[in-house]
Amino acid sequence: MKIETKCLHAGYEPANGETRVLPIYQSTTYKYDSTDHVGKLFDLSVDGHMYSRISNPTVDAVEKKIAALEGGVGALCTTSGQAASLISMLNILSAGDHFISASTIYGGTVNLFAVTLKRLGIECTFVDASASEDELQKAFRPNTKAVFGETIANPAIAVLDIEKLARVAHKNDVPFIIDNTFATPVLCRPIEFGADIVIHSTTKYMDGHAIQVGGVIVDSGKFNWNNGKFPCLCERDESYHGIVYTEHFGAAAYIAKARVQLMRDFGAYPSAQDAFLLNLGLETLPLRIERHCKNADTVAHFLAQSDKIEFVNYPTLVGNGYKELAEKYLPNGASGVISFSVKGGRDNAVKFMDALQLASIVVHVADIRTCVLHPASSTHRQLTDEQLVGAGITPGLIRLSVGLENIDDILSDIKLGLDAIE
Ligand code: PLP
Repeated sequence: MKIETKCLHAGYEPANGETRVLPIYQSTTYKYDSTDHVGKLFDLSVDGHMYSRISNPTVDAVEKKIAALEGGVGALCTTSGQAASLISMLNILSAGDHFISASTIYGGTVNLFAVTLKRLGIECTFVDASASEDELQKAFRPNTKAVFGETIANPAIAVLDIEKLARVAHKNDVPFIIDNTFATPVLCRPIEFGADIVIHSTTKYMDGHAIQVGGVIVDSGKFNWNNGKFPCLCERDESYHGIVYTEHFGAAAYIAKARVQLMRDFGAYPSAQDAFLLNLGLETLPLRIERHCKNADTVAHFLAQSDKIEFVNYPTLVGNGYKELAEKYLPNGASGVISFSVKGGRDNAVKFMDALQLASIVVHVADIRTCVLHPASSTHRQLTDEQLVGAGITPGLIRLSVGLENIDDILSDIKLGLDAIE
């Protein structure tokens, strides 16, 4: 099946007489015929649902759909993108471990890595992902256990050289974990370029309508955990009757552990209702993404012509530093998200934003409705000046998430913003 077809049909195949549309299984619990069967469920020797903190049939169908979209062996939905980032890391890292992350990533993830994981004894080194492989190699330590990056970084709109990062990670026997939120599997499937684990904030394009917060982790099933660095997957887990994940689950060891161990303990599993809504978003994802990309490309070229604009970040623009990488990894478009800096810094950024009538100021991105945000005073407010530079954020930077409105209306609105700047 091609991606458009998978978006509609993967994950849920109704049998004769069953509901055509994925049902909402609004139940915390499941009924069994015998205590023996429950015992087998707890031993993980039979498949089935135990409790909706760990799995649920509606969420399960959406997980299967997203795994199919990304080309993975399994997926685990979470209550937010942040929970997906956290669980993807804690699934293989413990106190005393170290990992490497691209510096151009979402501000909330920077905070999670630099502050919260540090408090748990896990250290992150942020690197310039455009550095050479030799430079990147210098960041590795004996206790390094993962490499992390974003396909299209929020809000610098930096495109990652996925194959390079995967190569460096694999040379060091560690997995490459990638946040594919902005690209979505419609524009890029990082597993095809060597990524091992893919995460998403499904809150963004996958949902697309700004109606529920969610996340997902997808396991490629391709990483060899049995290399001495990951005893958590290859040795007995006493908290789960001595199970050895790689032996019991084979290629799906990572995602199975994330569910039965971490999701069991953290309880960040989405509701059936939210999964149902996410599925509605996924069904139209390819159509929406196509229009988002087309509108954003037009807006980027329009902004780039204005003498009131310092620079525009959008990979399809001539002269953009990521054009070549975008042609390789994002041949069908670079998402609906643009960032640009107005001349005159923060004051003019505020004037521009306040003059808009169609685009709304929201702490959100990747919505069907055009929206804007000033990262330095909102999503990235907690970053130091040095971290802001690392994330590619200037005081005048505006993030514009181009929606699905008629392009003429979007351009008229942007003209209002530009006219407000002296
Ligand atoms: N990853 C990226 C690229 C994001 O833009 C965001 C949120 O903006 C997140 C992760 C966190 O996701 P959530 O807000 O669903 O927790």
